[in-house]
Amino acid sequence: MPSLQQYHTFSLASNCASIVEFDSVDSFLQAYNPEVNTYILGGGSNSVFLDDFEGVVLVNKIKGISHYDTESHHHISVGAGEDWHEFVSLCMQNGWFGLENLALIPGSVGASPIQNIGAYGVEVHSFIDSIEAILLETKEPFLIKGADCQFGYRDSIFKHALYGKALITKVNFTLPKAYDVVASYGELSAIDCPNAKDIFNKVIEVRKAKLPDPKQLGNAGSFFKNPVIALAHFEELKCHYLDIPSYPVSENQVKVPAAWLIDQMGFKGKALNGVRCHPTQPLVLTNIGNAQGNDLIALAKEIMNSVESEFKITLEPEVRLVGREGLIQL
Ligand SMILES: Cc1cc2nc3c(=O)[nH]c(=O)nc-3n(C[C@H](O)[C@H](O)[C@H](O)COP(=O)(O)OP(=O)(O)OC[C@H]3O[C@@H](n4cnc5c(N)ncnc54)[C@H](O)[C@@H]3O)c2cc1C
Repeated sequence: MPSLQQYHTFSLASNCASIVEFDSVDSFLQAYNPEVNTYILGGGSNSVFLDDFEGVVLVNKIKGISHYDTESHHHISVGAGEDWHEFVSLCMQNGWFGLENLALIPGSVGASPIQNIGAYGVEVHSFIDSIEAILLETKEPFLIKGADCQFGYRDSIFKHALYGKALITKVNFTLPKAYDVVASYGELSAIDCPNAKDIFNKVIEVRKAKLPDPKQLGNAGSFFKNPVIALAHFEELKCHYLDIPSYPVSENQVKVPAAWLIDQMGFKGKALNGVRCHPTQPLVLTNIGNAQGNDLIALAKEIMNSVESEFKITLEPEVRLVGREGLIQL
């Protein structure tokens, strides 16, 4: 059985029946068998194979980038197997701005709309005009407009009605020529009159300082989503925790940083067998050596139970956890 260890950034030692890399729609269709349990993979930075996967893993390597511009916009079509950060870097080199806040996010362009990647106050959906895909059932190509993708916080139609039903082959981005950089978030707000390249460089610098590099230390980025809770619930918590941070979401809801909740429960730096809650960013769980899927589940559940009992807040994993037969929920 081939090893998946190098195919997912958490790097647990797991295997599968076979791994096939494809670089075109034709080669995907040749490899895809609807009768066989299949997992489509990009860079494996949002997927953790907890166990041996009893199926075929198809790895997207569809490349190609084309660009044209109009008076007001840059239009860029990108093969789903292109590397996300390399694409953002190319945009910077060419003066196509907008995606700079999303620098250094690992993974493929094709996965970026699936959880609507976001960082430093920007989400990718703002720049997605449309997505080209193949409907697995009929093998027919289709195009879906960004406006129809039901994008939300780490969410899209590809996690719901189109979950497991489509292969994304191309993402079509529209970047406005005239726009203001988003510099209000965290360390970015300290830069004096930043331009897009300043933001790009700062994001890279901060991310390198804060987040473990998956090439050095296995991890899948933020393990949990930041929970969104009712304002009334938040006000109640604030009576006990005066410094609890929050970001407004709507009139009646706020987002609470999961890292703060986890930190309050004393998990920062805590290790369980081969898995550790990262010392500088407790939202990231890391593989500190020969971790097993069960170790990761055990630590994740301990964190979830602890946060739930103290704050009455249910943490939800942001990563896709893959078991023997496919995705599993904690
Ligand atoms: C260190 C680190 C930092 C991170 N920081 C951030 C961050 O700041 N913001 C953020 O939003 N995310 C972040 N992530 C998460 C991750 O980088 C993103 O979710 C990224 O978009 C995943 O891309 P991927 O190609 O690696 O996805 P994969 O893990 O390969 O796939 C993710 C999901 O998409 C599906 N999929 C992949 N490609 C296709 C396709 N072409 N067609 C159909 N389905 C497909 C897979 O089946 C799977 O369910 C981080 C991860 C790491 C390791």
